[in-house]
Amino acid sequence: MNSNQNLIGSCGCGKVKYNIKDDPLFTQACHCKLCKKSTGSSFVIHTMVFEDDLIVEGEVSSSELETGSGKGYRAYFCVNCGVYVYCKYNVSPGRVAVRTATLNNPIFPQAHIYVKDKDPWIEIANNQTCYDEFYDREKTWPEESLKRLKLKN
Ligand SMILES: [Zn+2]
Ligand SMILES: [Zn+2]
Repeated sequence: MNSNQNLIGSCGCGKVKYNIKDDPLFTQACHCKLCKKSTGSSFVIHTMVFEDDLIVEGEVSSSELETGSGKGYRAYFCVNCGVYVYCKYNVSPGRVAVRTATLNNPIFPQAHIYVKDKDPWIEIANNQTCYDEFYDREKTWPEESLKRLKLKN
């Protein structure tokens, strides 16, 4: 179960800290225009975990924001430094997307999505992980993660 002691992270100022209790389901980078806006950078990296595996300490505020799909999501920010630490997509109840770059130790993205909007100066080392838009979860997520997801739902 909790094999990974490295799954701890924090916001920019350190007032919000978190711990992921069990292995993440999947980690992906998104190069879409909305993610560029929300990071102020070329892409976001999200690590998907079960909501009850994410233990957050410190005060966060949240806002309901738009997604490309129109379904929206709620983003959670440190009240002190404003760093966006995690979010909940309305289409995936029970799961949370942690902003991977706030982890103390990096996790490599297992997929890159919306590569059609990727900035031209970024090169992705492994083409096999690239998708023009979204992927088929059943074909892309590891078997183990799909199994855990089914058990939970
Ligand atoms: Zn902070
Ligand atoms: Zn995106």
